[in-house]
Amino acid sequence: MKGLFSKNKVFPYEEVDKGQPCLSCGDRCLGFTPHKWRSTCTACGCQRDDHDIIHDNLVTVYERLGIDTKDHNELVRSKERALSLGYSWVPQGLSPAKVEDFMNSLPNNQIPRLHSAGEKYRDRQIILQMPRQDLSEDLCRHILDAASTECFYQFIELRDEVAFSTGRVKDYLKEDQECFKCGGEIEAGDMGVYADLLEDDSLCWHPFCFTCYSCDELLVDLAYFHKDGHIFCERHYAELVLPRCIACDEMK
Ligand SMILES: [Zn+2]
Ligand SMILES: [Zn+2]
Ligand SMILES: [Zn+2]
Ligand SMILES: [Zn+2]
Repeated sequence: MKGLFSKNKVFPYEEVDKGQPCLSCGDRCLGFTPHKWRSTCTACGCQRDDHDIIHDNLVTVYERLGIDTKDHNELVRSKERALSLGYSWVPQGLSPAKVEDFMNSLPNNQIPRLHSAGEKYRDRQIILQMPRQDLSEDLCRHILDAASTECFYQFIELRDEVAFSTGRVKDYLKEDQECFKCGGEIEAGDMGVYADLLEDDSLCWHPFCFTCYSCDELLVDLAYFHKDGHIFCERHYAELVLPRCIACDEMK
């Protein structure tokens, strides 16, 4: 599923933010009102991310990252397959019965079943785990000269070509395995998730343990970024590579 890095990334999907309610303030915020450059809301003072930001369309993590898959039709097919099974995303390579087993192993409010709280959770996690300003130069105000442009693209190239992949779900383990996160047993016959890009590619996770080492959230659509033997969401991987400005939330 990996594609060629292209320098002319454009952020392909709109996020709906203006006027969206604040999840911490509720009625006390009149709706998200962007500051000129800070990542806060001028109506309530909370962060943009504290508001109910959504996509205007169903987005995959590959689309979000702006990674062209070698086979565009494969992307379309995987979306259609997920929708036909009643989800906004399903792992690749599993039979419908195994997709059900996988989903049922996740916390109920995080299962991306269509029109459920889990579908919303997934969409929100894409937005939180892959902040849009990490993805497109056009959305960064810090990038003012050629040197910082070069730095930004080096970061993106390393991230997308070296650090990024998606977890592989093995639907039937032949032997008992120890989960890398919780240390608990994954019994023979059960499902395990593997991160093939890690130096030790024999490490295995429970599906519900395949989480960011930093924020502990389920890695959305199993998308992970690896560094120093651990798996992260994009936001927390990026912060290990470049500092993030606390005022505008951009990489510096
Ligand atoms: Zn607000
Ligand atoms: Zn607020
Ligand atoms: Zn576990
Ligand atoms: Zn994280």
